[in-house]
Amino acid sequence: MAFHPISSAGSIFFDPETLRIFADAAVSDLSQETLETSDPAGHREICRTGDATAYLPATGRPRLSRLTLHISNSCNLACSYCYASGGDYGLGRKLMKSDNAIELLSDAFNAFDIDSLMFFGGEPSLNVDAILDCCIFVKELHARGLIREMPRFGVISNLAGSGEKFDLFLAVCRAFDFSITVSIDGPPDIHDANRPRLKGGGSFEQVRKNYFRARKIGIPVDIQCTYTSNHVERGISILDLMKFFKSEFETAHSHIAPASCSPISDEQPAQKAIIESYCEAIKYMVATLNTPDHLTIDIGQRLIQAFVHKENIAHYCPAGNSELTIGPDGQLSPCFMFVGHESFDMGKIEKGDRWLSSHGEAILESIRKNGKDQHPVCRTCWARNVCTGCIGSDYLATKTLSAKPQCAFTKATAAETIVRLVEVVQGLPVGIYGDEQRDVFAEAGSADEFAMSAELCAPAT
Ligand code: SF4
Ligand code: SF4
Repeated sequence: MAFHPISSAGSIFFDPETLRIFADAAVSDLSQETLETSDPAGHREICRTGDATAYLPATGRPRLSRLTLHISNSCNLACSYCYASGGDYGLGRKLMKSDNAIELLSDAFNAFDIDSLMFFGGEPSLNVDAILDCCIFVKELHARGLIREMPRFGVISNLAGSGEKFDLFLAVCRAFDFSITVSIDGPPDIHDANRPRLKGGGSFEQVRKNYFRARKIGIPVDIQCTYTSNHVERGISILDLMKFFKSEFETAHSHIAPASCSPISDEQPAQKAIIESYCEAIKYMVATLNTPDHLTIDIGQRLIQAFVHKENIAHYCPAGNSELTIGPDGQLSPCFMFVGHESFDMGKIEKGDRWLSSHGEAILESIRKNGKDQHPVCRTCWARNVCTGCIGSDYLATKTLSAKPQCAFTKATAAETIVRLVEVVQGLPVGIYGDEQRDVFAEAGSADEFAMSAELCAPAT
């Protein structure tokens, strides 16, 4: 059991094993029934990392929650933070040919049961012919009984295209029940600064137009926003973005991720501001539960979900645990963020008893060793059962899988959620306990350290 003093008036008690939260020990156990009414509900599926509890075996027929196929190494934008060298991953601008894509999919469906198939790039809409041929191929596999279930189709697109090919792209998405994830970074000035066209000029207006075109014909579109120091410098908070997406894009839920390639710690002012901005958004989420003003971001939902339903999140990151990527040259990687990185090249899908080369197995083993159930720091961390992150982003920032640059962010947001949920259940105004927990909780490393710091404050037991 770990404890956290919240004020001279009382303490919050949190058990990292069972995810149970108590306020003032004897007073109120935050029961599931009470918190159930506080659950924003309906978004259980976003907790992707919680889905997979098993590791991918080297032999047999594993299940992938997602297979990503790179069909385009070309892009029509030139984003300031692009980790993919403008979409070509340093491998040259090219589009995958349909017969090549179909052959790779054939091998993949031979080796795996696949829940969802995502088309990726660069910008995948630039290669709509390959997308269409792949969809027809998969549908045919299903019609002939060669795969038991149809995978769900998805695509991550910048939606900045135009013309006949782009119209065909939307038509294919509609015909094959795709969901689209589109990257929008906020109001026009910041979006256009972060995501300019390759040939110059902003992309916001075109993206906005295509977003509503897609929705009008019934395609579900999720917004993904990258939160950068540029937002911080311009005074745009996470909450501002949530409100912007609600008013301009008619969506109450947003996925807003901190930009990769910069470790999130509370040491630099910009990084501390990022943490505070996310905590403010979580506070708002909890304070507006069951009101018309309620807005959500996925990290807040994931945390509330875990605490309310006492569901441990199995993996830090799904890459290499339940998800794989096939790159533009047919090579497997744990995730699209590793495409073009030779040391994460897992080889092609092997035919026969094993789908995985021994080098590929060594890569997956290294990911597992650095997973939160085996990593020496994570094993005793109080936040381990709700912690999620992105190993691709961590690797690009630190050049190793063992560094965990987002710990301060993870712990602060988890602590924020715990304290705000307690306020709701106690019927107190959200925010009354102040913000100290962001630092105290966040600094506490292991359950032992945590218990010790609580002991010094002599909570009731
Ligand atoms: S749309 Fe994606 S691939 Fe293209 S430049 Fe932007 S981040 Fe890179
Ligand atoms: S917060 Fe850091 S130490 Fe704790 S489980 Fe997550 S990555 Fe590991």
